[in-house]
Amino acid sequence: MKHVDEYRSSELCRQVVNEIHQSATRCHTIMEVCGGQTHGLLMHGIDVALAGVVDLLHGPGCPVCVTPAEDIDFAIALCRRPNVTVATFGDMLRVPGTTISLREASSRGGNVRLVYSPLDAVQLARDDPAREYVFFAVGFETTTPATALAAQQAAHLGLENFSMIVSHVRVQPAMEAIMRSEASRVEAFLAAGHVCTVSGYDCYDQFASQYRVPVVVTGFEPLDLLSGILSCVRQLESGVAMVENRYERSVHAEGNRNALQVIDELYEVCDRPWRGLGTLQGGGFRLRDRWSFFDAVHRYPRTALPTVQPSLCRSGDVLTGRIKPTDCEYFGRECTQELPLGAPMVSLEGACAAYARHARQTAS
Ligand code: SF4
Repeated sequence: MKHVDEYRSSELCRQVVNEIHQSATRCHTIMEVCGGQTHGLLMHGIDVALAGVVDLLHGPGCPVCVTPAEDIDFAIALCRRPNVTVATFGDMLRVPGTTISLREASSRGGNVRLVYSPLDAVQLARDDPAREYVFFAVGFETTTPATALAAQQAAHLGLENFSMIVSHVRVQPAMEAIMRSEASRVEAFLAAGHVCTVSGYDCYDQFASQYRVPVVVTGFEPLDLLSGILSCVRQLESGVAMVENRYERSVHAEGNRNALQVIDELYEVCDRPWRGLGTLQGGGFRLRDRWSFFDAVHRYPRTALPTVQPSLCRSGDVLTGRIKPTDCEYFGRECTQELPLGAPMVSLEGACAAYARHARQTAS
């Protein structure tokens, strides 16, 4: 197929839905680990079309949702400094830290700027050398190369007033944590297509065989999603657990070598706290020592604050697939898109926001 419309063909989608129904002898539990896929599955009604044969669980695939409260608290502390501006993406502004969000901090006088790319933050620093700019870098392997390039650009320009709060996370350790949990019901994973565009999928071979779990690299259009699910169902029905690529037009086994090279040049793997999952071994990236000049943690003292899970939010249960958003007693009541209690309702990629937007109802 050449055109994206073909991946939205209702006739082809119906055929694959029928194949899934015919292939499944029982209900299979499959988790997608990408907020974009969560929205796609609900927007196209795939969860409804496959009810009874596939139970879709929504994993920790929303980068803003898994950013820990302590990193947001640090960003808030920095934006309150008279000579510091914190720059970040729009989604990140609304996510609560321990008590308030960056947006609330801004409304109370904090210096916060919304940017659309890490290079925008570099440009702000370049245009205003008397002020210090801190970019709040969040996201999976997908966005990590862009922030690495921003630090390289800042170095190239000789900027001394630019730094980053690095809160980048790696997908695979989260999948491992889910599989190690005794409460996990996950039988197969749809691996995030855009993450795999960077990382490739060879890296999942050991994971799939160790946990005996199918991993199918999947895209975002309805036919992509259904093809990924069909591959999972076929593997589960035949007792196979292997890595498959159903997003061939974007993903190659070895990933994007240039992107991986720039990540490796600037970052090293580290343990990192995830909201709702705790600290994951190898769960994130930090700047290498030779790039620590651009690390806000090195530049500004980070006061240790008590970390409290904000409010009543059950984001940990949602992000690990233990419950669905509609199982949360606050969904649609105390927690709405207009007045969110937690990150999964705030972010455009959050599972709770997806259920609210696509009108999935509470169980009661
Ligand atoms: S519905 Fe709201 S309170 Fe419940 S888990 Fe989702 S974001 Fe948190």
